Amino acid sequence: MGKNYDLFVVGAGPAGMTAGMYGVRSGLETLVVEKGISGGLSNEAPEIKNYPGFTSVGGMELAEKMKEQASEYVEIKELEVVEKIETGGKENEKNMVVFTEKGSYVTKAVVISTGTKHRKLGAKGEDEFLGRGISYCATCDGFFFRDKPVTVVGGGDSAVKEVLYLKNIGCEVTLIHRRDKLRAEQYLQKELERAGVPILWNSEVKEIKGDKAVRSVVRYDKKKGIEDELLVEGVFISIGEEPVNELAAHMGIEMDKNGYIITDESQRTNFERVYAAGDITGGVRQVVVACAEGAIAATSAYNDLLELSVK
Ligand code: NAP
Repeated sequence: MGKNYDLFVVGAGPAGMTAGMYGVRSGLETLVVEKGISGGLSNEAPEIKNYPGFTSVGGMELAEKMKEQASEYVEIKELEVVEKIETGGKENEKNMVVFTEKGSYVTKAVVISTGTKHRKLGAKGEDEFLGRGISYCATCDGFFFRDKPVTVVGGGDSAVKEVLYLKNIGCEVTLIHRRDKLRAEQYLQKELERAGVPILWNSEVKEIKGDKAVRSVVRYDKKKGIEDELLVEGVFISIGEEPVNELAAHMGIEMDKNGYIITDESQRTNFERVYAAGDITGGVRQVVVACAEGAIAATSAYNDLLELSVK
């Protein structure tokens, strides 16, 4: 059994890193554990223009700055997967045990900030050509497609940002969207218009075809009722995210119908001393919101532990 903690944070995205920093600053013995690298999906944002204090900053750069700052206070263990969390038995009600692939930790409080993962399209060929022309991250893979024809699938903020990034690095990009209106914020829609990117409206991707790598996309135009083939070498799928909620589900934490953890305004879940923060709680999924929720979650943990100690 590892060291005892007051606060254990699962996930080191913006929410988790902030929770870790606030935990230590309020005097809690805190640990943050992350299955991958710090920053979560914010690492993939090509450019963030609405995080206060930064006119424009790359997602990875912002995540690195956050990690640098958080690490001044809290230990962040990367590449360690949390497998399950057991809430305390009767003998020691205050403690929970967190099991990872590398060991176990005893803690009095937990913040779950496991974020979201990319939603899959479910089109034929999607799994087959993953890494051979199909990607879920333009910042990570766009470079390989400079000067080449590519398509982005989706109509939200992320899809438009991916399109603008790819256009900017010299890709010949087309957007495919299933409706006749974009969901993306107006500001991004205007940028898209200015960039002159062709949009295939009311269109579904039926299949992604290729040989060793992607060669084309079979598109169904729902309005016209016709199918055609778009010759592309890259397909960037950007159709939203799904909560990473396996841990919470295993614990029996209450979630909404879409699988996002339900919290009160202090980030408390239905389990005592278990809090959730960031994208895993759904709602407005922005870096600034994740940070705020992380700060609130750690502060609630501090308040609850203080109350517990005086009982
Ligand atoms: P999103 O807002 O949920 O948009 C997903 C898009 O994909 C929608 O246009 C949706 O179409 C489409 N879609 C969903 N399932 C599909 C399917 N099976 N086949 C084809 N198309 C499908 O997701 P997001 O763009 O990833 O954004 C997620 C959150 O992060 C949002 O809250 C967003 O505001 C935030 N975000 C913000 C910024 C920013 O700079 N402010 C940047 C990135 C992300 P419909 O429109 O028809 O539903």
